Amino acid sequence: MNNIAVMYHYVREQECWKGIVPMRPVEFAQQIDELSRTHEIISLDQIHEVRTKPWCILTFDDGTKDQYTHAFDILKQKGLPAYFTIMSGPLLSGNIPIMHLVHTVLSFKSDEEIWELLKRNYDTDGIEEQSSVYAYEQKKLRRYNKYMLNFRLSTTEARHFLESLFLSLFPDKSKFITDFYLTRDEIRKMSHEGMTIGVHCHKHSPYTGDPQLFYDTEIEPCKILLNELIGNNPKWYTPAFGGGNHFELMKEELTPTLLNNGFKGAFSTIPGNIKSEPGFWMDRIDCNKLPPLGNMNIL
Ligand SMILES: [Zn+2]
Repeated sequence: MNNIAVMYHYVREQECWKGIVPMRPVEFAQQIDELSRTHEIISLDQIHEVRTKPWCILTFDDGTKDQYTHAFDILKQKGLPAYFTIMSGPLLSGNIPIMHLVHTVLSFKSDEEIWELLKRNYDTDGIEEQSSVYAYEQKKLRRYNKYMLNFRLSTTEARHFLESLFLSLFPDKSKFITDFYLTRDEIRKMSHEGMTIGVHCHKHSPYTGDPQLFYDTEIEPCKILLNELIGNNPKWYTPAFGGGNHFELMKEELTPTLLNNGFKGAFSTIPGNIKSEPGFWMDRIDCNKLPPLGNMNIL
């Protein structure tokens, strides 16, 4: 058996959020009970300690509120540590990344309505074939909408389109941010209660080259905010989209900058186990790809 890091995003009931695929709190609790049988769930500052059992780090991306309400609550009850990463953009500049605008709009507007609007305003030629990247989506219009918003429209077009729909649903953006993301007090509280807090990003941008510019715009603002909240510089980093399509380039170019700025390690979204002597970059296993309950011993 191997050391592993498990990657979590939303931990909540789905309720009316039909645009996301969360893990239900009851499943989360069962999964970590199951993991505890085969692995020791440890905090990041313990990864170099010698132990007989393989270890497991629980990692959370995006800093959404459900992670406080459900995951943190369950972890506290079980006395287990975890690693949560924060996106500073919403807290510092009041901006919501496109990914979360997509989740929200797909949750609260019908696919028919979104498709009508997209069709009216943008070129939709070839959508049938191209949207097959979303073959796992059962509904045709959901596939079309996701393809248009995530691939066909430019970032500026997508933001413009999504923000007008978003504001028709949630006119008070700052209230939405308070309800949807971890607040400053919640981050402080999680840190006080033993959770490791790390940097996810500022605006949730993928790596596009230029390590210093990327560090200054995507990492530094979040690091400064976390220093103010937890009283010291964060030491761990998880890039947005695992770095994106340029992960290998990011790993090569950005690692020296991260080391120079006091980071001790980082997590990718590449599926895999962690070596007994972990390197700076560690792979993860998506929580939905773990073996079914009762079969964790195959890890
Ligand atoms: Zn993310």
